[in-house]
Amino acid sequence: MSQANEALFAGLHTDGYINGAWVQAPEDKRFEVLNPATGEVLTTVANLGSDDAMAAMDAADAAQAAWGKSAPRERADLLRAAFDGLIARREEFARLISLEMGKPLAEARGEVTYAAEFLRWFSEEATRISGRYGSNAEGTGRVIVSQRPVGPCLLITPWNFPLAMATRKIGPALAAGCTSIIKPAAQTPLTTLAFTSMLDEIGVPAGVVNVVPTTSASSISEPLLADPRLRKMSFTGSTAVGRSLLKLAADQVLRTSMELGGNAPFLVFEDADLDAAVQGALLAKFRNIGQACTAANRFLVHSSVAEDFSARMTKAVEGMKIGSGLEDGVTIGPLVDEAAVSKVSELVEDALAGGATLHTGGAAIDGPGHFFQPTVLSSVTPAAKMWTSEIFGPVLAITTFDTEEEAVAAANDTEYGLIAYAYTKDLKRSQRLIEDIESGMLGLNMGVVSNAAAPFGGVKQSGLGREGGPEGISEYLTTRYALTPAP
Ligand code: NAP
Repeated sequence: MSQANEALFAGLHTDGYINGAWVQAPEDKRFEVLNPATGEVLTTVANLGSDDAMAAMDAADAAQAAWGKSAPRERADLLRAAFDGLIARREEFARLISLEMGKPLAEARGEVTYAAEFLRWFSEEATRISGRYGSNAEGTGRVIVSQRPVGPCLLITPWNFPLAMATRKIGPALAAGCTSIIKPAAQTPLTTLAFTSMLDEIGVPAGVVNVVPTTSASSISEPLLADPRLRKMSFTGSTAVGRSLLKLAADQVLRTSMELGGNAPFLVFEDADLDAAVQGALLAKFRNIGQACTAANRFLVHSSVAEDFSARMTKAVEGMKIGSGLEDGVTIGPLVDEAAVSKVSELVEDALAGGATLHTGGAAIDGPGHFFQPTVLSSVTPAAKMWTSEIFGPVLAITTFDTEEEAVAAANDTEYGLIAYAYTKDLKRSQRLIEDIESGMLGLNMGVVSNAAAPFGGVKQSGLGREGGPEGISEYLTTRYALTPAP
């Protein structure tokens, strides 16, 4: 390990965190965290179980009353200190993200900034929680509406954005006055633990934030979702796991926010600025090595520009540098594990067997590490498995269309509805797309739409609820009213 990485790990907490204390585990109850670029073991982390989940529930429940009544300014100041802390330590957090998840360092720095922005945004939202006072229709009574914290929350995060997915949940939970229990992904617990350690240092009270790393997710989620003291679950991950957790959440009638999978269409119309479309496509497809819920999955390109678009994408992709995220100039890091490489390989083989044309890439790269060549395919048909499932890898699949109606129908032909992208210079068409595309988010001549000020989330089977924007805090608040006689 390099000197810089040794220094990073020297001060790192690798235990659970419950009620303001680090929960250690003996060697035989720890799990390995691997560097996907090399396969080397970075460190081991305490593997917590159901008893720890219950201890975290006790702590979150005990802390809820005081935290829920704390001054909004106190919560805002803590969130602002967390924002300042992340920005000051951006390089350290970026290295950690890159090491345990694999993304290029430049993108990891971008994730830290993006993650920090949720803390700043929700520090500002914390002091703006309001109610209303008004008359009933008859004029005989007064309605007093207030918003209260929902209560203790279970926050479950995926491995692909280990910091941003955590702050997008912890930020609004803290701002609203909710306590929480966080279950980070088993492949990337280190970033969450480093962030928790920072929250501890800046003085977030004991029990307000608890973290339970584990390799047995259900041993944490099942007892918690059965406990009536838990009042909310916020989950980011696959639609399949989200669906099963929703069923469990129904027993306690929990508030839920579900950020699930996607199958994003990327539409390039005949009047698009092709240079801009290529730049947008590179971001929408290859950022995070294609492992993003927002990753463009299906490229629908007007037949008059398809050849030009494919040629430009191929040239750009052939110029990409593959390697460990920490190496200078790398744009394509490893996939998260070998299973991911196998899945992407199978999807590419299936598309080729179905008649797709390979322009570049198309194969896994021999280890160490879990690499797949950045790939461009055209003539991919709707029968290909990659057309209906998330590729979650650096593979760009193109098909063509001739009319706007055809393009919109194809874009909407999926049970997902997280995000869509469209490149066109036509204002009227843009307005029609805003109305007709079935997705929670639309990148209009933009390859990235994520922003702390915007309500991130999907429709259809891509999820429920929103993260970010003014909507983000309302997910952690519950509305109540009192009716009194008119004075
Ligand atoms: P995943 O397998 O669904 O896992 C997500 C999280 O859920 C992990 O922490 C995982 O723990 C946990 N989990 C799995 N089974 C569980 C259970 N029975 N009870 C409680 N927790 C459980 O998804 P992933 O592979 O990590 O992430 C990729 C998926 O996330 C993609 O589908 C992507 O589109 C989606 N995603 C969506 C958004 C969005 O905002 N819409 C953002 C990012 C990612 P382990 O790590 O221990 O398995």
